[in-house]
Amino acid sequence: MLELREISKSYVSGDNDVKALKAITASFGDDEFVSILGPSGCGKTTLLNIIGGLDKYTSGDLIIDGKSTKDFSDGDWDTYRNHKIGFVFQSYNLIQHLNVLENVEMSLTLNGISKKERTELAKNALKEVGLLDQIKKYPNQLSGGQMQRVAIARAIVNNPSIILADEPTGALDSKTSKQIMELLKEISKDKLIIMVTHNASLAKKYSSRIIKLLDGNIAGDTIQNEKIEQKTEKVEKKNKSALKFWTALYLSFKNLLTKKGRTILTSFAGSIGIIGVALVLAISNGFSLYINSMQQDTLSNYPISIATATVDFSSLNYTEIMSSANTEGTENSITITGDMSQFIEYGHYNCINNNFLNVVKDFELNNITNNSNSNFAGVEYNYYAPIKMLIKTSNSTVKLEKSKNSVSLLSSSSSNLFYPSLKNDDYINDSYKVVYTSPNYDKNDIFGLTLVLNKGNKISYSVLNQLGIQAERDENNRYKPVDFDYLCENVNIQLMYNDDYYVYDSENDSFSIIDTTNEALLNLFEQNQLQQLKITRIIAPKDDSNTNLLSTGVMYSYELQEQYLQNCEQSQIAIKQASKKESQQGTDVYDFYVPFDLEVKEVPNVLNGFKLSSTKSIQNFLTSFFKTSIDIEEAYQMGMQEIGVSSIPQSIVFYPKNFSAKAQVTDLVKNYNANVDEVYQIVISDSSEFLTNTLGTIINIISIVLVAFAGISLVVSSIMIGIITYVSVIERTKEIGILRSIGARKRDIAHIFNAESLIIGALSGVIGIAVNYLLCPIINVIVYKLAGISNIALLSPIHAISLILISMALTFISGSIPSKIASNKNPVECLRSE
Ligand code: ADP
Ligand code: MG
Repeated sequence: MLELREISKSYVSGDNDVKALKAITASFGDDEFVSILGPSGCGKTTLLNIIGGLDKYTSGDLIIDGKSTKDFSDGDWDTYRNHKIGFVFQSYNLIQHLNVLENVEMSLTLNGISKKERTELAKNALKEVGLLDQIKKYPNQLSGGQMQRVAIARAIVNNPSIILADEPTGALDSKTSKQIMELLKEISKDKLIIMVTHNASLAKKYSSRIIKLLDGNIAGDTIQNEKIEQKTEKVEKKNKSALKFWTALYLSFKNLLTKKGRTILTSFAGSIGIIGVALVLAISNGFSLYINSMQQDTLSNYPISIATATVDFSSLNYTEIMSSANTEGTENSITITGDMSQFIEYGHYNCINNNFLNVVKDFELNNITNNSNSNFAGVEYNYYAPIKMLIKTSNSTVKLEKSKNSVSLLSSSSSNLFYPSLKNDDYINDSYKVVYTSPNYDKNDIFGLTLVLNKGNKISYSVLNQLGIQAERDENNRYKPVDFDYLCENVNIQLMYNDDYYVYDSENDSFSIIDTTNEALLNLFEQNQLQQLKITRIIAPKDDSNTNLLSTGVMYSYELQEQYLQNCEQSQIAIKQASKKESQQGTDVYDFYVPFDLEVKEVPNVLNGFKLSSTKSIQNFLTSFFKTSIDIEEAYQMGMQEIGVSSIPQSIVFYPKNFSAKAQVTDLVKNYNANVDEVYQIVISDSSEFLTNTLGTIINIISIVLVAFAGISLVVSSIMIGIITYVSVIERTKEIGILRSIGARKRDIAHIFNAESLIIGALSGVIGIAVNYLLCPIINVIVYKLAGISNIALLSPIHAISLILISMALTFISGSIPSKIASNKNPVECLRSE
């Protein structure tokens, strides 16, 4: 069964070689009980380890069942140890954190044998050694004799053909020693037992053969080699041992349970990184949810507008650096602030022409009119009629005022004092509150005006000034507040329709503008012939509103604008103009009234108006507008628009229901812009975008910085877990030796340690996430108290699970080096360590 051929073993220790075995030759039969006697250091243990495949011989050959082991791989040796060899040691070498049954089961466990079969075999073995009643006990609850019995049970459980016992009774009293020897004697009936012992009398009494070893040589053998009958049976091809993953996990878990305190501390340390990352994720997650819901709730209803004169950023960038500003406004008064003129208005001229209009109309037809599932509440086309009016600014002055139009944005510094409300004013109602309504307020009165204030009921003195309210100062040179009702009563405005403004001169068949001297206007005003306009309502942004959608000034009703527009179309000047165009059909050079007030001082005659081609100032003006020669038709349209008649809208307003609607409009304009000259390009004005984009960028930057910090702590804590796993490897060196001696492969050892770091990683992750879920509500309460934002820290379950997995992965990686070290340890040296 076993044959040693000139086996020698030398150790290199320091400079000199130690020859532990010198050309040992011996054969062993199937059911011998061999005792090896010899003084300490003569090489007995070395011999046993070589026979058991724990140690490798330096030269010679070990023949197992007639097969040379010279070419054995690590795996072959592992299988050999696991299936053919059972080891019994002087110091029992039981695994302390496993109970008796589990210790005995261990070599079967390493084989991947099922739990049921394992338990049955182990119980049989324990019955044989008489310990069936002790199977739940742990090694430290047993006597030496009992422990050695467990060790013997473990050695025989796998039914090996060879038992190697290294001084099995060395640590036992004589009575117990005898019992152990009886047991071994019994076992030797069908197994080869090779036992190393100091006790010659026990050896003589129980063993069938005694080999004496001296200085690495056989000094005597009670049986001659020739007498041993050599059976050349085939080496049984058994399955290679394989440790199941779950078993490895279970073993590591059992081991960790024996040192709960340290495991928890380690996991806590490891979880710090996870806590950091989790908090960062939670906060940025909560923040973006907050931003999203804020956008969804309040901003998605804000219209997207494409206006001829567009992007009035001043209402967004607005900061009040008003030196003369008074204290906060009271319930029913207006606080006056400094002038806004220092804020530069910048904009873009959007050329809304028929070309673009057709694109938008197509879009409307496909995506809104014929789409029951539309992302839009609607589209609005605003034909802008510059309303003309007289404002009495003092007892002796009347001012002619025109509401803003596209031309004035570029050609003058006139403020946006008067502007129309949009047809759909939901979004205004969303973010503005009514702070005052006068007694004669009537919702259906189209001639009632709305005064728009800033937050805190503030307005600049110059706006009030233009409305004829003289702001008074107190002794500290601050403006005194103005009462709402005083204001409503004292703003006097009269509306001028086209026919009130352009006067027909029937003699010359031409038009002129009325006399606009102060005297004449005052006179006209006093006659009270014109339509009265009254401020009947005052609004201001809600306290929680983030944007000032409207500029401070006076907003008139959409209905008034519509009425005014219709009136303009039917005005004498418009009718004349249209008929004049008709009559000039087909001629190269049109001449008609192009009343750009500022450029054209002289009031032109409709019939003998400016020739567009010959009027340099107009030409220059138009080319500066379009940077290209202007279409005659377009010039006509602009002229008509100036007198309040237009087929081209001043602005197009989309009312989105959600964010994809915004994206749709953006895409529409992008596509249009790709196909037209630069000067015709359209810029969209989306008041909500600026704010949210900026906020989003800030959040992203903060998140990146925080994640970087958290990442560093994650790396540090996983390195720490690596170190702790390494310490654990050192601590469990003995166990590694034991496992190897009963057949564990290098890979199994690595599995066990990897499983351990996986468990710690998972535990770290879970602790980290749990702590995070504990901290989040606290953070939420604090943030809510400080900033009024609720649920700012909110870790998504996906992030939570990913973080646990990341934690496991990181600890696995950092633990894989120590576990590699563990698996490569020399089993003999491991067994020697204490
Ligand atoms: P025994 O079991 O008979 O007491 P060993 O087999 O343990 O003796 O040791 C035989 C000899 O080999 C001793 O001289 C011992 O010092 C030496 N030896 C054993 N293992 C090693 C080792 N790993 N490195 C160096 N020398 C060793
Ligand atoms: Mg020894």
